[in-house]
Amino acid sequence: MTNTPHHPPIINCHTHRISRDAVVCVDPPMISGTIKANPGIYFSTGIHPWRLPQMTEEEFEREMETIRHSAALPNAAAIGETGIDTLKGGDLTRQQEALMRHISISEDTCRPLVLHVVRAGHIITRLRKQLGNTIRQPWIWHGFRGNAIQAAQFCAFANTYISFGYNFNPDAVKAINADRILAETDDTTRSIDEVVKRISQARNTSLADTLEIITDNTQRAIFNRHAR
Ligand SMILES: [Zn+2]
Repeated sequence: MTNTPHHPPIINCHTHRISRDAVVCVDPPMISGTIKANPGIYFSTGIHPWRLPQMTEEEFEREMETIRHSAALPNAAAIGETGIDTLKGGDLTRQQEALMRHISISEDTCRPLVLHVVRAGHIITRLRKQLGNTIRQPWIWHGFRGNAIQAAQFCAFANTYISFGYNFNPDAVKAINADRILAETDDTTRSIDEVVKRISQARNTSLADTLEIITDNTQRAIFNRHAR
């Protein structure tokens, strides 16, 4: 089901820098100020796994409430980043609980989920298998640095996308269908054009072709609302 007003062709699906031409990822406490200062901006919000170890239960619940409210706004493009980081995310059970809460908001509000995954690909794959077809919204593994096998495993699930930043494993790009590829600048100062150029080099096709594919993919993954 599509309910899409006209959107500019945004191709940068994840950045932490304020930009009109990207989905800007903002921590929940900053979201209302950011929207006020930058009306019309497309944003995603979620509790980054790195922030969890320092948070109290009350702070966590308050932020989940903020995420749920802001996810309903028209310019809310995605939920996240959320995910599992076995190096810097602290207690694994708590990370998994937080991830589940983001997943349910993603499903309830028909917004895609942006995943931060560090040394936890097996956990994400297992979880996705368990959840089966209860998942209707796209899952975007952002800043993917894994290998070809991990990329193919994730893309074996329906409606999954891999977002590549400036640094990635070229074999992973080649291992997946072109219709799963997204691009991002994350927290770097690189331009999205530089990222797309590197993806086109890895794919061994023209820049124009890669640009067209990523434009289509971003529209489908992020801006077309997927009915539940
Ligand atoms: Zn990020």
